[in-house]
Parts: sequence; structure tokens; C-alpha cells
Amino acid sequence: MIMQEVSDFFRNLFNPSGWPARWYCGNWTIFHGWLYIVSSILIASAYFSIPLILYYLIRRSKNDLPFQKIFWLFLCFILACGFTHLLDALMFWLPIYRVTAMVLFITAVISWIAVFGLFKVIPMVLSLKSPDFLEAVIKNRTLELELANQFLSASNQELLQAKLAIEKVLKQKDEFLNIASHELKTPVTSLKAYTQLLSAMRNKDPEDLNKMHAKIESQINKLVILINDLLDVTKIQEGIFFYEKQKMNLSAIIIEVTEDMQLITAHNLIIVEVAESLEVIGDKNKISQVLINLLSNAIKYSNKNETIIVKVIKDDAKVVCSVQDFGLGISNEHHDKVFEKYYRVKDSNRENLSGLGLGLHIVKDIIAKHDGSLWLESEEGMGSIFYFSMASAN
Ligand code: ADP
Repeated sequence: MIMQEVSDFFRNLFNPSGWPARWYCGNWTIFHGWLYIVSSILIASAYFSIPLILYYLIRRSKNDLPFQKIFWLFLCFILACGFTHLLDALMFWLPIYRVTAMVLFITAVISWIAVFGLFKVIPMVLSLKSPDFLEAVIKNRTLELELANQFLSASNQELLQAKLAIEKVLKQKDEFLNIASHELKTPVTSLKAYTQLLSAMRNKDPEDLNKMHAKIESQINKLVILINDLLDVTKIQEGIFFYEKQKMNLSAIIIEVTEDMQLITAHNLIIVEVAESLEVIGDKNKISQVLINLLSNAIKYSNKNETIIVKVIKDDAKVVCSVQDFGLGISNEHHDKVFEKYYRVKDSNRENLSGLGLGLHIVKDIIAKHDGSLWLESEEGMGSIFYFSMASAN
């Protein structure tokens, strides 16, 4: 029975016979009927437009739209609703009630699929972050990126500076090797010449032989100083320049060292002004080395016959020692740099004065290890005074 009805239904799907057109069903006034028809058509056209927009959005998003399946479902659902309204209007002339029922049924099915689809995406929709929240996250990330960027450019700067520093050191090293080989070669060449001369002078006047002997000794001294400086700097660098500190009489050491230096310095008079017996805690050999280096420089950078004055005074809790010469002097721009390793002032007056630029660097390290201070007063052409101070132990 029911099967018969279903089969009749589909067979006569588009058959309007059996029903009057809606105009003739009931008492429609023209206004009432057309209000119904126009409204249904307007709703239907709106319902056909919305899927078009949805379709356009899906296509434009290139599959990037979230919940794309829901968009398709809504597209079908609204389209189906559009058809129900269109048919509603058509029924005024064409009473195809079976088609209407069919379209309503399809719309109902799609509507429920849409309901289930929507229900399924509720958790996903709820987990979506609000635009404000996302904006805050983006702001945070941007800030983090900016900080990281700043950090990277700072590191980059540091690397660049480190690279420049390494390049500077490598250049200094090359210069140093050049100077060092030259400085070592000069006394060795002299020594070679003197020994050849000596063997040729075997039967000569003993006074000539003595002079030659003194020259050889002076060259050997130069070599020893150079080699010692090199060894000391290496020890300083490796942290094995050891100190044996004890209470010592600085005044006595100054007198001892200056007397020794005077013996090997024929052209300069060294005046010592030591007021009293001043004591300090320190390494006697290293402090002697400081004095030897400062005095050697004073002699080296003085002209012949210029006096050198060595003083030591007590200033409150400190003992201050100074070595003054009246020689070449040092212009202001070099004052800090002369204590750097390998640093040498280069000018025409000093072209023939040998050195490795290590003496003052060693002095600086020794005084620093005694918690003392080291400074200089100097003017180009007016001479220099090098000072160092240490805590008094009197
Ligand atoms: P150097 O072996 O070149 O003498 P130093 O470290 O002892 O090395 O000195 C560094 C530089 O300081 C020297 O090259 C020199 O130009 C300058 N200097 C040091 N002492 C004096 C001084 N008493 N008078 C003039 N210049 C000096």
C-alpha cells in the first residue's frame, strides 16, 4: 500500500493535477498574493546569492579557510532553503506539491546534517583565540624577535670588534717578529765581527784588547736584556711570572741599582736623592728590574751628558719613586700607550734606538702585582718622569 503511494508519488512528481494553483486556493487579494510572492522571490534570490558568496570565499581562500566543510554544508543548506522559497512563489501558478514536498525533504536532511556538522565543530570554534588575544601574542612575539634581533646585532658587533682586535694583535705580532729578529741580529752580527777582530788582534796592545772586550760585553748585555724581556713577557702571558715578596729596603735597592747602572753608563750622570730608609713589601728582584728598565730607558732616550735623577719619598702611607730624564720626552698621545705590550713611539729621533716595546709593559705588570701605581709626566723634547708608588711598610 505504502510502496504503491511512493511509486505514484515519484511517477507524478511534476504532475500538478489534483490541486488548484495557490491563487485559486483561498481568498487571496492581489496585494496579499503579490506580497507573498515578491517576498518569497526576494528571500529565494538572497538565498541563492549567499551560496555564491560562500563559494567565492572558498575558492579565494585556496583551501586555507578554517572549517571549510561547514562552509560547504551551509552553502547547500542555504541553497536548498532558496529553492523552497522559490517553489513557494511558483505554487501560485504551478501547484507541483509533490516537488515541493521533495525539496522540503531534501532541505530537511541537509539542515540536520548542518546541525550535526555545527555541533561537531563547537570545541574547535571554542578553542579559537580571539583577535585581541592573537594580537597580544603577535605583539609579544614581535618584541621577542626584536630583542633577539638586537642581541644578534650586538653579538655581531662584538664579533666584528673581536675580529678587528685579533687582526690588530696579528699585525702587532708580525711587527714584533720583524723588530725582534732585527734587534737580535744586530748584537749577534756585532759579536761576530768583534770575535773575528779579536783573533786578528791576538798580538796587539792589551789596552786595545780590553776595549774590544768591553764592546763584546756590552753587546752580550744587550742580548741578555732582550732575551730576558722576551722570557718575562712570555711568563707574564702564561701567568707564571712568580713573586717572592718580603719586607725590603727600597732606598737601599735604589742606591744599589743606580750604582750598577752608573758603572755601565759612561755618558750620563745618575743623581740619587733618597731621603731616608724606606721599606716596602715586595719582590726584590722584580723591583730591581723595574728600576733597571726605567733607568735604561732614561739613559737610552737621553742625550749624552744629560743628567738623570732618581728620587724616592714618603707620601702618607705610600712610598713614591721617580726616575727623571731630560731627553726626548713623550708627547701626550702616547702616554697611556707606552705601557702596552710591543708599543714603541715611532719618530725620526728614535729611529736608531733599539728596543722591543716590552720594558714598560713588564714594569706595569710588576707594579700592578705589588698593588702599586705607575704613571708618567712627559712632554716632547722636555724629558720624562716615570713614577711608581707602593704601600709603605715603615
Ligand atoms: P722600548 O724597548 O722601545 O724602549 P719600552 O716599553 O721600554 O720599550 O718603552 C716603550 C716606548 O716608550 C719606547 O719605544 C719609547 O719611545 C718610550 N719611552 C720609554 N721611556 C722613555 C723615556 N724615558 N723617554 C722617552 N721615551 C720613552
